[in-house]
Amino acid sequence: MIVIFLGPPGAGKGTQAAHIVERYGIPQLSTGDMLRAAVAAETPVGLKAKAVMDAGNLVSDDIVAAIVEERIEADDCAPGFLLDGFPRTVVQAEMLDAMLEKKERQVDVVIELQVDEKVLLERLKSRIKETLERGEKLRKDDNEETFKYRLQVYKEQTAPLIPFYRDQEKLKVVDGMASVEAVSAEIDAVLDEYRA
Ligand code: AMP
Repeated sequence: MIVIFLGPPGAGKGTQAAHIVERYGIPQLSTGDMLRAAVAAETPVGLKAKAVMDAGNLVSDDIVAAIVEERIEADDCAPGFLLDGFPRTVVQAEMLDAMLEKKERQVDVVIELQVDEKVLLERLKSRIKETLERGEKLRKDDNEETFKYRLQVYKEQTAPLIPFYRDQEKLKVVDGMASVEAVSAEIDAVLDEYRA
């Protein structure tokens, strides 16, 4: 089962991904996490990506697609995987289709988590407050200004994936504003149909 998670920053993709990993036993492939690991390890990719990520811009399609292509070769991806944060552009979606076609595989379903912009901003503010209260450091891109910019980038570059996957008849929309448990239940109802 190959699943894509689509939704603006802060929609709850990470939280719900953890649930899917546990219930369906497929790994979560978060390109954001992979890129942050590359930045921390100061690899050539990380050194290139750092400033781009800090500013809330997208890393180049070629870099991200290469990371994903290598990762999906791993044995744990054989039963399927959950893509979180990839594809982020229509070009990436086309690159994904091409790399899966080579392996005679394809995307099964795309879940779009819908959350209003106002709710996203409220969530961001409480996340910042809670992180600071715990005495932890904020992510460089976790501030209101960069967040608003990331939302803009989402609307311009990532939202076109919604009609792209709707045309492929793979899109399922889930209300991301319900409780965490209710959102998980709605996602389960969708994914149970695709379980191998
Ligand atoms: P995320 O953790 O998914 O919010 O990603 C954090 C940052 O990593 C994004 O703002 C981008 O700079 C970068 N990033 C993650 N995934 C991608 C992707 N598929 N394409 C381009 N940039 C990405």
